[in-house]
Amino acid sequence: MPATSRDTNWAKNVLREAGLRATAARVAVLKMLAVAGSPQSHADVVEALGDEGFDQSTLFRCLNEMAESRLLTRLDLGDQIRRFELRQIEGADTLEHPHFMCVDCGKLLCLKDFKVAISPSRGPRRDILGTITEVLLRGHCGQCSTE
Ligand SMILES: [Zn+2]
Ligand SMILES: [Zn+2]
Repeated sequence: MPATSRDTNWAKNVLREAGLRATAARVAVLKMLAVAGSPQSHADVVEALGDEGFDQSTLFRCLNEMAESRLLTRLDLGDQIRRFELRQIEGADTLEHPHFMCVDCGKLLCLKDFKVAISPSRGPRRDILGTITEVLLRGHCGQCSTE
């Protein structure tokens, strides 16, 4: 779906299909994440939408409700900041794409055009691994590499 069609009506439909009431806060969060292009933390969402009169706890609740309804993916990238992004594949339970975090500036990028395949060797190691939910690559982003 092109980003331009992600308007209020789109957001309302998405919420209804997920069985959620299309409240103003949920619609605003969904639209913000649709255009964000990278995972957003609760603080990012508050910063972006605070001016529209939504308080922090409302936005926090929205994010978690929509994650539980599987509209959003909750990312835990090991830096104690929980981030959310719009799920691309409806209902998918596995990871959708890897993320890249710059160790210099902290920028986080979605590697939507990358695929990471992990092939465990034979034997019981597959069970040890369980389910991989997130692949995170770290390094220096293009901007930081050139400085
Ligand atoms: Zn960087
Ligand atoms: Zn992503």
